[in-house]
Amino acid sequence: MKKTIIIRENRIDEAANALKEGKLVVFPTETVYGLGANAFDEEAVKNIFIAKGRPSDNPLIVHIANINQLKDLTGEIPEYAQSLIDAFWPGPLTLVMKKSDLVPEIITGGLDTVAIRMPSHPVALKLIKLSGVPIAAPSANISGRPSPTSEIHVVEDLSGRVDYILLAGDTSVGLESTVLDISGAIPQILRPGYITYEDIHEIIGQLKYDLHLTDKNITPKSPGMKYKHYSPKAKVIIVEGKYSRQKMTSMIDDYAEQGIKVGIMGTDELLKGFSGVVCCSLGDAKKISEVGNRLFRCLRDLDQQKVDVILAESFNREGLGVAIMNRLEKAAGYHIINSEEDMQ
Ligand code: AMP
Ligand code: MG
Repeated sequence: MKKTIIIRENRIDEAANALKEGKLVVFPTETVYGLGANAFDEEAVKNIFIAKGRPSDNPLIVHIANINQLKDLTGEIPEYAQSLIDAFWPGPLTLVMKKSDLVPEIITGGLDTVAIRMPSHPVALKLIKLSGVPIAAPSANISGRPSPTSEIHVVEDLSGRVDYILLAGDTSVGLESTVLDISGAIPQILRPGYITYEDIHEIIGQLKYDLHLTDKNITPKSPGMKYKHYSPKAKVIIVEGKYSRQKMTSMIDDYAEQGIKVGIMGTDELLKGFSGVVCCSLGDAKKISEVGNRLFRCLRDLDQQKVDVILAESFNREGLGVAIMNRLEKAAGYHIINSEEDMQ
C-alpha cells in the first residue's frame, strides 16, 4: 500500500512537483477524474497500468495545456486538425494522430499513433501548466469499474495505490471524451463521447464511426475498446421499448420471489411509476446531458445500495444518446430486453 496524500487546489503545487518527480497524481477533468503521470517518464507511466490493473495494450490519452506540447508529441498533423482544435479545445475531444519519437511506446500500446486532448477543467489545465510536462492519464478507476465522476469514487478506488489525489468536486460532463482518429484518410470516431458526430460533422464534413460501434462482432480499431468496461458489481440489464415500465415491474416481482434485490436506473419520468424499489435518477428525460452526467454515478450508487440487478432505461441512439448507450451497453455486457416483444 502506498501512502496517498489527498489535497485540494490550494496545494496544487505539491501535485505538480510530484508529477515532475515521476509520481502518480489523480486529478479532476471536466469529463471524469484522471490518473496522471509525466508522459515522457516511462517508469511513471508503467505505474499507471499497475495502479489501475489496466491491460498494457490499452493505450493512454496524453493531456496537454498548450499547442507547443502538441507539436512535441505528434509527427504529422492534418491541416483540418486546426479547425477541430479551434472548435473543441480545450474540451472533451481526443484526437488520435501520428506520434513523434518522444512518445514512449508504453503510452500507445505499441501503435504508431498517440491520443491527445486539452482538457477544459481549470484545475487540470493549471496542474499540467505547473508540472511543465504533458500528462498521460486514463480514467482514475480500477480497470473495468465505472469511470469516477465524484470525489468519493476516486478515493474509494485509488487510495493506497497513488501518491496524490487532487480533489475538486463532481465532474461536469460525466462521460469520457470523444476519441476521433484523424491519422487516416477519413476521420473516424473510435469512441463516442460528449462531442457528438453532428458537432464534428459541422466542422469537418467527412467523418465516420469505427465499424465496431455499429457491429459488435468487429474488433475495435482502438485496442482498449475490446475490454469489458464500466461494470458495477451488480448485473445490469437494459430494458427498451414502449412497455419498459410494465416489463420492469414484472421483472421486479419475479426477482423478489427469488430473493434478488433490484435497483432501477432511469429518468424521473420512468421512476415516478415505481415505489418501494431502490431507484437512481438520471434526471429529466428532456435533458440528455444530465443523463450523461449521472450515468456512472448511478451505477456506483446502486452498487453502494447493494442491489444484485440493475434495470436500466434505454435512450435513443442519436446525439449524446450514442455515447450514453455505448457506455450502458458495455456496463450491461450487451444484455438488452425489448419490452415490446415480451409484453404484447
Ligand atoms: P480511458 O483513458 O480509460 O478513457 O481510455 C482511453 C481511450 O483512448 C481508450 O479507448 C483507448 O483505446 C483510446 N486510445 C488511446 N490511444 C489511442 C491510439 N493511439 N489509437 C486509438 N485509440 C487510442
Ligand atoms: Mg477508462
